[in-house]
Amino acid sequence: MPSKMRDCNFNRFLNEILTFNREDFFFGMKKHNFFAGPSILSDFAIKNTADAVLDFAGTGLSILEISHRSKEFEAIMTKATQLFKELLDVPAEYEVVFVGGGASMQFCMVPYNLMVKKAAYIDSGAWASKAIKEAKFFGEVDVVASSKADNYSYIPKNFVVADDVDYLHYTSNNTIFGTQTKTDLDVNARLVCDMSSDIFSRPIDISKYDVIYGGAQKNLGPAGLAFAIVRKDALGKTERPIPTMLDYRTHVKEGSMYNTPPCLQVYTILQTLEWYKAQGGVAGMQKLNEAKAALLYDEIDRNRLFKSSVTVEEDRSLMNICFIMNDEYKELEGAFQSLASSKGILGIKGHRSVGGFRASTYNALPISSVQVLVDAMKEFEKTV
Ligand SMILES: *Cc1c(COP(=O)(O)O)cnc(C)c1O
Repeated sequence: MPSKMRDCNFNRFLNEILTFNREDFFFGMKKHNFFAGPSILSDFAIKNTADAVLDFAGTGLSILEISHRSKEFEAIMTKATQLFKELLDVPAEYEVVFVGGGASMQFCMVPYNLMVKKAAYIDSGAWASKAIKEAKFFGEVDVVASSKADNYSYIPKNFVVADDVDYLHYTSNNTIFGTQTKTDLDVNARLVCDMSSDIFSRPIDISKYDVIYGGAQKNLGPAGLAFAIVRKDALGKTERPIPTMLDYRTHVKEGSMYNTPPCLQVYTILQTLEWYKAQGGVAGMQKLNEAKAALLYDEIDRNRLFKSSVTVEEDRSLMNICFIMNDEYKELEGAFQSLASSKGILGIKGHRSVGGFRASTYNALPISSVQVLVDAMKEFEKTV
C-alpha cells in the first residue's frame, strides 16, 4: 500500500488498482491482446506502473512529476540498466543505454557512430529497408541479400559479406512479415542487429555484436524509448563529428541521463524486467514462446481454412505469427475477424502489406490467450 495518498478521491480508484485484475476490470470479458506494437505488457508491469503514477516509491509524488535527478528515480534507472545486463548476460565491455527516438532513430545512430566507410545490410523486411535508407546517408551500403521480390515471405540467406565492411546489419525478427532469424548469425563481420520485436525472447551471444538495439514498445514497455547494447570499443572509430545527442558515447558516459529520460517508460521497463526474472529469465521466455508458437502454427497447418504466409518453415517467427485464408476462403476473412472480436481477441488484423492475420505472441502474452485464438479457429472451421 502506498504510504501517502495525494487526494482522497483517488481512494476508490487506488483500491481498484491494488486489486487489479484485467478480467474483472473490463466488464467481465477478458481481452486477448495480439497487437504488434505497442503491445501487451504483463499485469505485473501495468499494476506497478499504475501504482507509481499515483504514488512513486512512497514519495507522495507521481512518477509523472518526480525529478529525474531524485535519488528514487536514479535508483530506478540504475536498476533497470543492471537487470537488463543481468538477464541478457551482457559482457563487461558493453554498456546498455536508453535513448529517445525509438528504433527508427537507431537506424541513423548506428551508421553515424559505426560506419567508417562501408557496411553490409540484409534486406529482410520493411524495417530493414528503412535502416538501409538511413545508412546511405553515411557511406557505402552493400545490400548483400534481399527477399523483397517475394514480399519478404522468407529470410534471405546464402549471402557473401566483403572482408572490409565495418559491420553487417540485420533485423532478427521481421515484425510485419512474421519471419525470424532465431540464432545469432555466424559470419566474418561484426554484427549489428535490430531486435525490436524479439529482444528477451531467447538467450543471445552478445559478444558477436557491436550494437543491438530496438524500440521498447514490443517486449519491454510503453513506446518512447529505444535500448541499445553497445560494445564500447566499437565507438570512436569514425572521424565524422557526431551531434551530442546522437553520439552513443554521450549516453554511455551519462548513464542514459544526459537529458531528461521519460521516467514512466523506464519505470515500466524495470517492472517488465523484474517480471522476466521471476519467470525464469530469457530461457523461461524462450520455452513459453516456443510452446505458444507451436500451438498456433499447428492449428494454422491443420485447419483447412488457413495457411501460413511465410514460405520457408524454419523462418517462421515465434513473435509475430502471420497467416492468411486459403484462396477459396478469402471472402471469409471479415467473418473470422468478427468471431474473434466477439471472443475478446484483439489486434489480429494483418499488416496492410501482407493482409490476412497477424497474431503477435510477445513475451507477456499468456498461452491461454493463444488457446482462445486456436479454439476460435476450430469453431470457425465447423461453420464453413
Ligand atoms: C516496431 C519496429 C521498429 C520501429 O520502431 P519505432 O520505435 O517505432 O521507431 C523498427 N524495427 C522493428 C523490427 C520493429 O518491430
